[in-house]
Amino acid sequence: MEQPSDLQAVLDRAAAAGGRITPAEALALYTDAPLHALGRAADTVRRRRYPDGIATYLIDRNINYTNVCVTACKFCAFYRPPKSEEGWVRDLDEILRRCGEAVELGATQIMLQGGHHPEFGVEYYERMFAAIKAAYPSLTLHSLGASEVAHMAGVSGVPVEAAIRRIRAAGLDSFAGAGAEILVARPRTAIAPLKESGERWLEIMETAHGLGVESTATFMMGTGETNAERIEHLRMIRDVQDRTGGFRAFIPWTYQPENNHLRGRTQASVLEYLRLVAVARLFFDNVAHIQGSWLTTGKEAGQLSLHMGADDLGSVMLEENVVSSAGARHRSNRLELIHLIRTAGRIPAQRDTLYRHLVVHDDPANDPVDDKVVSHFSSTALDLQPA
Ligand code: SF4
Repeated sequence: MEQPSDLQAVLDRAAAAGGRITPAEALALYTDAPLHALGRAADTVRRRRYPDGIATYLIDRNINYTNVCVTACKFCAFYRPPKSEEGWVRDLDEILRRCGEAVELGATQIMLQGGHHPEFGVEYYERMFAAIKAAYPSLTLHSLGASEVAHMAGVSGVPVEAAIRRIRAAGLDSFAGAGAEILVARPRTAIAPLKESGERWLEIMETAHGLGVESTATFMMGTGETNAERIEHLRMIRDVQDRTGGFRAFIPWTYQPENNHLRGRTQASVLEYLRLVAVARLFFDNVAHIQGSWLTTGKEAGQLSLHMGADDLGSVMLEENVVSSAGARHRSNRLELIHLIRTAGRIPAQRDTLYRHLVVHDDPANDPVDDKVVSHFSSTALDLQPA
């Protein structure tokens, strides 16, 4: 363990000078740096990157096409095995209808997310993406990730690179980067023994980045990994990012304990989460955006993350079914996210998938009046009737 004076020197180097910190230094900061000093250093780095004081949010909808999955991750409350009576597949008309509702509410992005259905190969995704793009060309398809690609390529019997090229040609814009969970072998095998390895997940992302398909990188904390393994997850991502530059953002969130085989035996606390956000901002000198997650840790923690290095609060989430099945009950709406950002002392802005500012809410008098842009956690239709 390093002495506090050593830790301050590391914080000063990262914050004041913008120097790179090592994984060992990141671990020492994560476990031992005083919380406020850690947050101050991360906020300094955030301010240097974004001197305009803007923090962003997004309007998108997560649409799940099936809950049928052969991968049976132990932390997952969403999937059903192929023969389950509770398994379902949404047909394309329903998916398109949901996209239409999202467009009507001002969404700029759709995140398609689903299980590893034993019959869904590349052709299934080509059809779906092409149909969505034809009907709603303005929507950005920020969807899927390395796990889905590995699965669809296997079902279709084609190389991963060919699968990525084909779904890109059909309309995929970028990968959402789910399925990273924790990339380190020991804890990953413990919670998702049938999923591809962390190295393979990164390899597929590297291939995608090489083909011009950028992504985000995620981290699900709290399933029993050690502190050192948390930092190792960050290191694995940073090393790939040094080669590709294709990760637009890092998005940590916390494992939710309900309705899954892990039964919440371990969980990350809010403080662990906030410390990780701060260390991520200091460690990722090569990743532009750090996203705070209000969905799994709550709105207060989401707001606090803006003081710990985060520059983005993610989406209003017009629909979310996966994390909420495991117990995440936080809901928000557009006006509330704007308020959370503003009362954190920052200027709220709606962004698109590329983090371009679409609307800067620099005057509360001009805040949007539409109160229908609200989080929904159900697969039912949204209420679009006039109030
Ligand atoms: S996390 Fe994804 S891959 Fe794992 S069981 Fe759930 S739906 Fe399947």
